[in-house]
Amino acid sequence: MNRLAAAPSGNPPASLAAMHAQAFPMLARAMIDRAAPHGAEISVAAGSVLFTCGDREAAFYIVLEGSVEVLECEADGAMHSLLVHRDGEFTGSLDLFTDRPNAVTVRASAASRLLRVSRAALEQLILTDRVLADIVLRAFILRRIGYLRQRPFGGAILRSASRAGQEDPVLDLAVIGGGPAGLAASAYAASEGLHTLLVGGSLTCGDAAPGVDALSGFPGTITGLCDGGLLRRAEDQSSRFGAHVLPVRTVSGFDGACYPYRVWLDDGRMIETRSVIVATGMQEGEAGQAPSANTAWLDGFLDTDELGYIHTGRAAAGSMQARAYESSQPGVFAVGAVRAGSVKHVLASIAEGAAAVRVVHRFLDASAH
Ligand SMILES: Cc1cc2nc3c(=O)[nH]c(=O)nc-3n(C[C@H](O)[C@H](O)[C@H](O)COP(=O)(O)OP(=O)(O)OC[C@H]3O[C@@H](n4cnc5c(N)ncnc54)[C@H](O)[C@@H]3O)c2cc1C
Repeated sequence: MNRLAAAPSGNPPASLAAMHAQAFPMLARAMIDRAAPHGAEISVAAGSVLFTCGDREAAFYIVLEGSVEVLECEADGAMHSLLVHRDGEFTGSLDLFTDRPNAVTVRASAASRLLRVSRAALEQLILTDRVLADIVLRAFILRRIGYLRQRPFGGAILRSASRAGQEDPVLDLAVIGGGPAGLAASAYAASEGLHTLLVGGSLTCGDAAPGVDALSGFPGTITGLCDGGLLRRAEDQSSRFGAHVLPVRTVSGFDGACYPYRVWLDDGRMIETRSVIVATGMQEGEAGQAPSANTAWLDGFLDTDELGYIHTGRAAAGSMQARAYESSQPGVFAVGAVRAGSVKHVLASIAEGAAAVRVVHRFLDASAH
């Protein structure tokens, strides 16, 4: 079996500019009008703090007039400016859908008028307005990808530095499935310094039954995450993203009897990895049948229910000590629709993907000793 070849590097300036424009878009007046019913307009004085790093209280803000500054906090309490949002731009990151503390402080840098949308109202907006959802979620994921460039987290620096100058053939993490759960997991993992591979599968979300258009009929379906555009961009930006990205490859086999684990791709390549996040979603059944999980490739290796959904945590066989999202196999995690008992929902999948990466860190830290 061939080992995985290194992903190509190099970022043409044009694609960087396009990525920046999508990560920090300026909403047209019509878009702001669509968001307005979900929030409340507020006026703030220059210097007013909207939310603080380390806190969990945060909302989504669209700048109607004025400017807000995003500041990163140093360990010693000092802050430095990352960027300024101006008229039509919006604050926020994927953290708004997770229980992670704010990574930044945001304050008004001038007297400003803002549209404040609470977390709960933002979730509603995302689920009911497909066009805005596309713009906002695309921006949030790209911001996460870009964060690697700005400043990786402390733990990430340590992990990467330990291998400085040498390419470790064994991955820290293989993320299988490029839907919302897998994309969020790989964006967080890569930005936190884990040597990560994302194997995307087909370029659609939630495999629909034959004849069903997965992007129609459900007002909240997120086209930006489901049409593959973001996955393609992540592939283009592989070196910046920090993860190798294989958008159209699927995983055909898994060997959990050895460690590092072995994962086989459909083109015959084999990868070795210290941990795995399974995010392969589910497929609609034939008429009248319940949807089943995309887990045939696991060949019965993990404990699942009768429809293939992966049991995690205490529900996983023999795993009284299992961590959240951890399957019956230590170091193999399941998130999103493929996980037994999960909420089959785009935002829930994003939150699970992000949350599982924390648990992966704990597993890798424990297994390193
Ligand atoms: C028709 C339809 C419409 C929906 N509409 C909505 C909606 O409007 N709002 C909402 O919130 N939720 C909606 N959902 C549910 C939503 O799509 C799922 O909750 C969400 O997509 C789950 O995300 P996920 O990342 O867990 O899985 P998925 O989005 O299913 O992504 C799984 C990914 O894994 C890939 N994959 C599968 N097998 C392999 C393999 N062997 N190797 C590598 N990759 C693999 C797939 O190709 C896919 O890209 C809808 C679902 C369907 C089927």
